[in-house]
Amino acid sequence: MPRLVVVSNRVADPRRTAAGGLAVALAEALNQSGGLWFGTSGAVTERDAGGTPGEAALQVQRAGDVTLATVDLSRDDHDAYYLGYSNGVLWPVFHYRLDLADFDAGSIEGYRRVNRMFARKLMPLLRPDDVVWVHDYHLIPLAAELRAMGSTHRIGFFLHIPLPPPLILAAIPQHEWLMRSLFAHDLLGFQAQADVEHFARYVRNEGRAEQRRDDLFHAFGRSVRARAFPIGIDVDEFESLLAGRDAQDTLATMREQYAKRQLLVGVDRLDYSKGLPQRVRAFQRLLERYPENRNSATLIQVASPSREDVHAYADIRRELEGLCGAINGEYGELDWMPVRYIHRTVARRRLPGLYRAARVGLVTPLRDGMNLVAKEFVAAQDPADPGVLVLSRFAGAAERLGEHALLVNPYDTQGTADAIQHALRMPIDERRARHARLLAQIRTHDVHRWQREFLQTLTEDPPA
Ligand code: UDP
Repeated sequence: MPRLVVVSNRVADPRRTAAGGLAVALAEALNQSGGLWFGTSGAVTERDAGGTPGEAALQVQRAGDVTLATVDLSRDDHDAYYLGYSNGVLWPVFHYRLDLADFDAGSIEGYRRVNRMFARKLMPLLRPDDVVWVHDYHLIPLAAELRAMGSTHRIGFFLHIPLPPPLILAAIPQHEWLMRSLFAHDLLGFQAQADVEHFARYVRNEGRAEQRRDDLFHAFGRSVRARAFPIGIDVDEFESLLAGRDAQDTLATMREQYAKRQLLVGVDRLDYSKGLPQRVRAFQRLLERYPENRNSATLIQVASPSREDVHAYADIRRELEGLCGAINGEYGELDWMPVRYIHRTVARRRLPGLYRAARVGLVTPLRDGMNLVAKEFVAAQDPADPGVLVLSRFAGAAERLGEHALLVNPYDTQGTADAIQHALRMPIDERRARHARLLAQIRTHDVHRWQREFLQTLTEDPPA
């Protein structure tokens, strides 16, 4: 078995629960091959720690059979590569938000510089028969940099966020360079079939690629396969978190405090792609149009702090806080607060208890690559008395869960309020039937299968 090398922006220590299902699944694959995980440490250095300007030394440590190799970023590199280009250009555009993109010329240089630095540090660590798996939008040009340094490794790339349609992609001044860079890989993995279709349309029209088979594209002198590998969660791991003390304590507290209420729960990073103001407005509409929910339906919205150095994130926070305050002011009673908004990260080991206490899970992003919270909510329910998932049609998760969740258009306030009302009133037989189907889906398409299928496709002989 060849050794696996995983490359991602951040390296997570897979031994910590906080690292989540993705880290666990990648660690599983890495453990099987005694692999290497390469990326930034997450630390930002104010001064150079030696080496060429702005470049820190490689730090290597062992986590079981896996080697973790990390670099710190200098402040300039972090600002340009991470905040500037990755999260100020690629994140908004790939989530269809051209209005929020900041095409500052400086940041593309930093993005290129850090990807080149990654390639330079990684190349000497690679053995000839290693298989390399690169993750996400921070590292689109990495494989091309490795090829320029002589790499002939099998290299795969997985995009965790959506790929937008060609016309939206073309708003990025460097779109041709980015898409050409993707052809330095042997395999491209996307979350959803819609993303694969956007890729195919872009490369056929703009790159004049030849589509040689359903999933095989040829352009710029290279061939690349592109397929959907929808990511999942580790259902067993999540169930054992639910059985744990922290989750059980959380569940008991929620049940006690909200004994007479019906709980609706949302858990998201505070990101404009998650549709939080739209969700809160739909909840407000529910209270307005269906007054029987007053003094009863209670929305708990966890909005975990995220990328606070990027302007658009401060704006969304202000908007959300204003809306929640207005609803509580208008509808609240001495003994009932309609919305509990929590601007803090809730520990992963507590979340299953929160999900389990809820009658309705609200997962209504404006655009999302997949959305794992939707799957976690399903995994945490009691099959005998499950809550209902209200899911945005614009989440990647809707491709497979859409049929049995209540699918909504989050821009449609009234439609979303109606779906929430439907969820709150749904008879138990229907809730059980829908939940059983959703649970079967997330069990079949779990994170282990995602990892296995991607690596199998990457390591099998390329199609003739
Ligand atoms: N999460 C968490 N605590 C929080 C908020 C989120 O542990 O306060 C976790 C959540 O359980 C999920 C992940 O963060 O596993 C979010 O993944 P998702 O795909 O839903 O969205 P992303 O944040 O990757 O856009």
